[in-house]
Amino acid sequence: MVEHHIAARGVRSPLVLEAMATVPREEFLPSHLREYAYEDTPLPIGEAQTISQPYIVAFMTEALGLSGGEKVLEIGAGSGYAAAVLSRIAGDVYTVERIGELAAKASERLSDLGYDNVHLLHADGTRGWLEHAPYDAIIVAAGGPEVPRSLKQQLAIGGRLVIPVGTDPRVQELVRLTRGSEDEFKSEDIADVRFVPLLGEEGWAETKPQKRAAKAARDRVGERDLIDAVREHAEPFGSIELADLEPVLKRIGDARLVLIGEATHGTAEFYRMREQITRALITEKGFKFVAIEGDWPDAARIDNYVRHFEYQPAGWTAFARFPTWMWRNHEVREFVEWLRGENADREPGKRAAFHGLDLYSLHNSIREVLDYLDDVDPHAAQVARERYGCLTPWQADPATYGRAALTGRYRSCEKEVASMLAGILTKRREYALRDGERYFGAVQNARLVTNAERYYRIMYYGSRASWNLRDSHMFETLRALLAFYGLDSKAVVWAHNSHVGDASATEMSIRGEYNVGQLCRSEFKQQVYLIGFGTDRGTVAAASDWDGPMQTMEVRPSIEKSYERRFRAAAQDMGEPKYFLPLRGKASMQEALQHPRLERAIGVIYRPETELASHYFQAVLPRQFDEYIWFDETCAVSPLPTVDLAGMPDTYPFGL
Ligand code: SAH
Repeated sequence: MVEHHIAARGVRSPLVLEAMATVPREEFLPSHLREYAYEDTPLPIGEAQTISQPYIVAFMTEALGLSGGEKVLEIGAGSGYAAAVLSRIAGDVYTVERIGELAAKASERLSDLGYDNVHLLHADGTRGWLEHAPYDAIIVAAGGPEVPRSLKQQLAIGGRLVIPVGTDPRVQELVRLTRGSEDEFKSEDIADVRFVPLLGEEGWAETKPQKRAAKAARDRVGERDLIDAVREHAEPFGSIELADLEPVLKRIGDARLVLIGEATHGTAEFYRMREQITRALITEKGFKFVAIEGDWPDAARIDNYVRHFEYQPAGWTAFARFPTWMWRNHEVREFVEWLRGENADREPGKRAAFHGLDLYSLHNSIREVLDYLDDVDPHAAQVARERYGCLTPWQADPATYGRAALTGRYRSCEKEVASMLAGILTKRREYALRDGERYFGAVQNARLVTNAERYYRIMYYGSRASWNLRDSHMFETLRALLAFYGLDSKAVVWAHNSHVGDASATEMSIRGEYNVGQLCRSEFKQQVYLIGFGTDRGTVAAASDWDGPMQTMEVRPSIEKSYERRFRAAAQDMGEPKYFLPLRGKASMQEALQHPRLERAIGVIYRPETELASHYFQAVLPRQFDEYIWFDETCAVSPLPTVDLAGMPDTYPFGL
């Protein structure tokens, strides 16, 4: 953990790295969460509080600039973990916790484990701990609206105070104050962070019980309005395959882009309904292509197959990297077979295409560019081999390249990949003349390589930059496709709700993240129609860890405060478990749903044990989507096997 999550992201201080390596984090967790102790994530410790993410503990500790032996004050003892880490460097650590239950447990734990230079007080820490002041360093593990005056006063001259500050209780700026003199403080913003609120006299006001009761009463009234609004607008359907799509198509009108989401990456009903809508868009409204949250080269294989191209199939299998079940499944194959059949009766130029928007195919994309150049320009292919050679040692594990380049242990290949793309673009006239379609594919692969190279380098800076880079890449690819197919071309996008639903209507925007849906809306305005999916319970195909095996998991019934719980209640009230819910332009829906609530997102990883923290986020659903499709209960997709067989069997393009 220390090497992967902490040193690799730039924490350098040997004192801090040593301290992080010696404190057993599992000892500070409830027993059912111990197996996650060495993952870089915050985890629940009871009383609605969390143990901080290891990287943040290390980062903040380093920011205190300790050299050993100091007197340190911590506010927010929580589990006691960060105090234990600090105690390996400081002379004495004084830590304050406002929740009695947590304070008692942490104190017992710290003394059992023998951390006897840690002293714990149960009190409101916004007032500091006057008795032992002044402190050489103060660290605050909860976010306040401003820096508490008492803490500034209790900081020694020359001392450092690190605290998350911000007027939004959900996201803060990490600030370091250095006290120059009695009344001189230097302030630096050192990171964007997200902490639980600092509650207390010089922090956020605590919610009074009366306030809570009033809010609960408001919620109950709101619940009835919501159910009535859903009753008024919902369009229930029986079977997915027989559902009447005419009203949906009418609402889509002449939109040029229809983005269809999914609340998980492994639910059969979402795939099947998405297929029905897409088929109707292709046959009845002339949609030109489907663009998926999958890699360009993999989707290109499917595209060759559905449009009856005669290119030599490459010697690899489509969608064979983790998470294979996301596209290699029976549901997707049904659609692919349908599209091939549909296209068979059409002129080549009128066939509907299938493309990939994602950027995880560094290796295959390099290979595709090389294969292309081998055919059209062998001399350029030789130059390309040298330039892309910079990345060769890392092809199997590009994330390691990113880390090595970031920490200066390996040089960055940025220039090489950029000059490859530039080179191919300059030869446009010459190359495109032979075969415009293939040239376009080569450019997309070269562009993907440049963005993927960057993606792996910046991913260690945190999720925001890499998320935005990935969604920008997807959006740019979509735009390039629309330009390629012409001004009047129309596209269907298949991706997760979190890429499709407008991010500005969700808590992603607080973190500075945007997505494909938001970028589409801001450029194409009313020409975009965003559709989301939701479910309450059932099974889902997902893994417990990245690169782990696919499992069919139980989806927990949705939680009390979620949208899902409301849609379930409405479904039960109507006796209709499945329905379309138009949102755009429906005033009573907008009103009933206008307050932000929690919404669930399950990706390729599902962790029911930490569901609230890992899978729920705040959103305003009627701004996020133009339409929502609800299923009370859903089932996992059926994956196709992933073994390779010799030859080109009839299951091409999946290469089973
Ligand atoms: N350092 C902790 C992280 C705990 S999360 C760990 O490693 O486990 C932040 C903690 O700050 C919570 O336990 C919360 O109860 C506490 N907290 C919030 N406001 C506080 C205040 N005014 N005084 C003391 N503790 C506070």
